[in-house]
Amino acid sequence: MIRYRARWLIPVSGPPIEDGVLGVSGTRIEYVGPASHAPAGEELNFGEAILLPGLINTHTHLELTAMRGSLEDLEFPDWIDKLRASRNEIFTEAMLLDSARHGIAEGLLAGITTYADTCASGVALPAMIELGVRGVMYQEVFGPAPEKRVAAMDDLRRRLAACALPDCEEPLVRVGVSPHAPYTVSDELYADAAGYARDAGLPLAVHVAESAAEWELVRAGTGSLAGRLAARGIATPVRGRSPIALLDSVGALGRDTLLIHCVHVDEGDVSIMAERGCAVAHCPVSNAKLGHGIAPLTEMLAAGVTIGLGSDSVASNNRMHILEEARTAVLQQRARHRSPDAVSALLALELATIGGARALGLGDRVGTLERGKDADFAVFDLGAAALPVGDPVAAAIFSLGGAAARFVAVGGKTLVRDGRLLRGDEDVAGRVAAAGRALRAWHDAATTH
Ligand SMILES: [Zn+2]
Repeated sequence: MIRYRARWLIPVSGPPIEDGVLGVSGTRIEYVGPASHAPAGEELNFGEAILLPGLINTHTHLELTAMRGSLEDLEFPDWIDKLRASRNEIFTEAMLLDSARHGIAEGLLAGITTYADTCASGVALPAMIELGVRGVMYQEVFGPAPEKRVAAMDDLRRRLAACALPDCEEPLVRVGVSPHAPYTVSDELYADAAGYARDAGLPLAVHVAESAAEWELVRAGTGSLAGRLAARGIATPVRGRSPIALLDSVGALGRDTLLIHCVHVDEGDVSIMAERGCAVAHCPVSNAKLGHGIAPLTEMLAAGVTIGLGSDSVASNNRMHILEEARTAVLQQRARHRSPDAVSALLALELATIGGARALGLGDRVGTLERGKDADFAVFDLGAAALPVGDPVAAAIFSLGGAAARFVAVGGKTLVRDGRLLRGDEDVAGRVAAAGRALRAWHDAATTH
């Protein structure tokens, strides 16, 4: 057994342990408790540090990492147009794969061990396997014109069939299906994709209730997103009382459905989400940065909805740090309710760990530090900016946002040591920077002509 020892060990399933040890044998956790009672073994002592369960990112777009900084200050429909054009015109498969690798490297250095990624190209899966992280890649499917449903489903089946999953008993990665969003998916395609996922036993992830424009498109068939569809000759009928009601009417809501964003949801929507047993990927920074608003986190939690935290892509964030998402979630809700009791630091840490794990159906394997669970964990030094520590949970949420992890393991395998990534290609960062430059040059040329 290896003893990982730190000034503070926060199991999340129980109170913080001062001078704690996490004992790991192979891929599993053997012991969680005070150092004084820990079984003997080789020891790695991190000293003044906090040891946490590996953080769970319930929503990313790893293939878009190279677009960081290139889509600033745009209205949402323009942001989508520019993103789509950039992906289609500039990015090759190799660039997208590098982008995904770079995104995972960034996440690992922020203590993120599990990634729920919605991906159009399919590169997130090989990147996750290569870097040794845990995750789900939801293969995206698009098709706003109802008559394109068959072609879109053929494309989805083809892409899923091409996914090469590791041939082992308990793989770290799996695949799911993601009909993208109400403005890119017809009701018919939603029904087909949801039915397919259910039959194949695959989880679903959907972007929903993100923007006011999406709400207007669904409820009234008008607004800026509707205008873009109309310009492509696609009809925009009234489709439902709300985006959540629309998804319910096409059979897309169930226990295996991850709802991404849920900013524009009302009481009726929250009841439907709870009744169907859906989970939510709450992305507070992205929602704020794009100007969408603040999701009713406390209302969703009160209704019993399972919630995890997501960074969304760095094209809308511009970083990937789940402790920063947790800090933002707390601050937004306390400000919104004008109450320091709105969301506690402990609840925020639960969202960042076990909440996210449950949202992805992984709650029995990761998300807390408990005997028998998989050894996914992260260690953060308590540097000058985090000392002195009063309550270690408050320190994790309010002081460590943006901090670099010192040590990270997934399934007992060390992936970050002394703040350095142990796997991966050192030239990736340079290639991603070059892709970013190519993208900017293309944008500049497009604006001058
Ligand atoms: Zn997204």
